[in-house]
Amino acid sequence: MKSLRYVGLELRNRVTDGDLIMPDQDLAAQVNHSGGSYPVVAGWGLINSLGDRFMDLGLTRTAYIITDENVMNLYGRNVQRALQSRDIPAHCVIIPAGETSKSFELAQAIYSWLADLKAERGHTIISVGGGVAGDLGGFIAATYLRGMAWVQVPTSMAAMVDASIGGKVAINLPQAKNLVGSFYQPKGVFADVQSLSTLGKRELSEGWAEAIKHGFILDASLVDVFEEHEEALMDVEPEIATEVIRRSMAIKADVVSQDERETLGIRIMLNYGHTIGHALESSTEYGQFFHGEGVSVGMMGAASMAQEMGLHSRELVERQRHLLERFNLPTAAKGVNVDDILKGMSLDKKVQGGSKRWVMLEEVGRSVVRTDVPEELVEKTVRELVS
Ligand code: NAD
Repeated sequence: MKSLRYVGLELRNRVTDGDLIMPDQDLAAQVNHSGGSYPVVAGWGLINSLGDRFMDLGLTRTAYIITDENVMNLYGRNVQRALQSRDIPAHCVIIPAGETSKSFELAQAIYSWLADLKAERGHTIISVGGGVAGDLGGFIAATYLRGMAWVQVPTSMAAMVDASIGGKVAINLPQAKNLVGSFYQPKGVFADVQSLSTLGKRELSEGWAEAIKHGFILDASLVDVFEEHEEALMDVEPEIATEVIRRSMAIKADVVSQDERETLGIRIMLNYGHTIGHALESSTEYGQFFHGEGVSVGMMGAASMAQEMGLHSRELVERQRHLLERFNLPTAAKGVNVDDILKGMSLDKKVQGGSKRWVMLEEVGRSVVRTDVPEELVEKTVRELVS
């Protein structure tokens, strides 16, 4: 049997209460990469102290904030003020909200803006917003002047627990998403958990899907926390929401620290639920399912197949379903065309040497990559998900 197994991957970068080496209360993790390391920090109301954080990192020169039209007034301006309060000059560029902003055209307009402002390599680009501001800002930081300092201030749930950590930066082409990009690491990731309180309920739920996924693949105790505190998490109660986000960030930070460029077969674990999830998103032309919702359905598909293959019990499948449903996430995709989903899956990036790599659970908190999932089982499972 061909498989890669992740048994109790050690969460080396987890910061615990008793940790004397990292006294920063808000520090979730430190990401290590080939060029050094950076802090991943989450706190309630953290934006107000961003000026101090920048001073600590030695980022005292001019900053260029890239944010979108929704986030600008909510948080972009506060980030600007926080920097200016420590005498760090900060300019802002406001991009349209949404995926279409990850384009060459917009990147080019921002390069011109930077050129007009005489941006220098020692200056800092700051992404303030969701994954779009993150990916685009990182792409610009990676390429303008062959690389500027870059800081992420994620404000959406998806950006906090996923997109802001790991240094993947990209823009889209008409042919497909994220086709042009690089691995480029930020100097720091600073999430103000309070900013989640202005997200819509559906956006919040889809973000929690990624964090719940982190628990199922690597941290059984995080799944317990989700089960115990569902209501408080959906209400973004400060203490518990901040703690869970830190834990989820630490899992992502740990995985990317061990497999910076996705070459070691470790980072793929984060794709639990993504094979069917991506296909669902693309087969419905990105109009029906948010990313996290597709992942939620995909997690159910993967769990159902794993159970049929004897990897784990039916009880685990039902436990996962129950938790996802409590977070208002879909666990099926009624009415979507089966052939479109199967076609979408055939274009999956996780195919290697002709075999599709499926991330599956062996138990809660323990995952495995399998390349021997029968096509008939995949087809049967997808049919069940849509009927
Ligand atoms: P997004 O950036 O478009 O944000 C979603 C919406 O939420 C936008 O309208 C935005 O204005 C709004 N918003 C953000 N924060 C808000 C807040 N606090 N209050 C109110 N509204 C707020 O999308 P996203 O879901 O954050 O991220 C998706 C993007 O991330 C995709 O482009 C995807 O490719 C990318 N991504 C990248 C990685 C990576 O590793 N680089 C990983 C996952 C996803």
